[in-house]
Amino acid sequence: MPKCDVGRRAGQIWHDGRLVSWSEAEVHVLSHSLHYGSAVFEGERVYGGRIFRLSAHSARLIASAAHIGIACPFDRATLDAATRAVVAANAISDGYIRPLCWLGEGVADLSGGRCPVHVAIAAWEWPHAFAPSALADGIRLMVSPWRRPPPQSAPFQAKAAGLYLSGMMSQRLAGTRGYDDALMLDYRGLVAEAACANLFMVTGGTVVTPATDCILAGITRETVLQLARTLGYAVEEQHVTLEQLKAADEVFLTGTAYEITPVRSIDDTTYRVGAVTRAVIGAFQQLVRGPHPDEATRLPARDERVQAAAAGGVRQARAGGPHSDGLGV
Ligand code: PMP
Repeated sequence: MPKCDVGRRAGQIWHDGRLVSWSEAEVHVLSHSLHYGSAVFEGERVYGGRIFRLSAHSARLIASAAHIGIACPFDRATLDAATRAVVAANAISDGYIRPLCWLGEGVADLSGGRCPVHVAIAAWEWPHAFAPSALADGIRLMVSPWRRPPPQSAPFQAKAAGLYLSGMMSQRLAGTRGYDDALMLDYRGLVAEAACANLFMVTGGTVVTPATDCILAGITRETVLQLARTLGYAVEEQHVTLEQLKAADEVFLTGTAYEITPVRSIDDTTYRVGAVTRAVIGAFQQLVRGPHPDEATRLPARDERVQAAAAGGVRQARAGGPHSDGLGV
């Protein structure tokens, strides 16, 4: 399980338009979001002081808020600038950023329609979620008994706090049973995603990942799909059964916090950390730390597509389809 202590410390947090000290950035106990999970958030990574795909994340935050009926009071450009200011103020080199948009004081009205909407952005040094050994050898997953809900029951496109309860319970259960993380199935029993990362498998040289019809369309996932195509692999976004996953040659997770983390086992099924996983990890590291690091010029078209997907579309891109263009790196 990734560990990162973000308790009290020196530093500054952007809070509703201004930088405040770490200890000043507090909420009232009667905040709506604390009671009902009515918040949306992002996770972003800083590589060598540069934020990877910042605008895509800012856009997803705004879209996530809209999905649950909250109007984010700041536009993308303002969020981008605020995020850069937080990274600079805290002198983050290799770290993680957590933007949060939530409903403030007022719990008597469940609709939260009259609650103030707040936004905060925090950042801290956090080079990797897992120890280098986990990245080299892979992590161990347990299939969770908790499932991702059907699209009629949850705004799955939103990175919304309330949707993380099943992931939180799954991760806890996995931890108590000695696993590194939990794999969640969807309401149909198909492979969905890990508690906070997307899943890929490699079967016969083809890179396969579950379709985003009830899971979060990860920004790292999108990047990895492009990288895999650029590396010359066939790529499929499709429904994946647990049987297909257990028969796969390689498995890895993708996410902002997890980056690309190989999977060593799922329950009793073991995998090797193979050549395809290694190639994708190498290409990803080159992308995030490579010679064209400006997030403003990186993957602009893709950022728009992620935003569109987050705004309600179900993407079903196939190999050779509209996502097969180059990476601009
Ligand atoms: N699925 C879930 C449930 C997540 O929390 C995350 C992390 N944001 C992901 C997938 C991966 O998304 P991204 O690559 O955009 O971080």
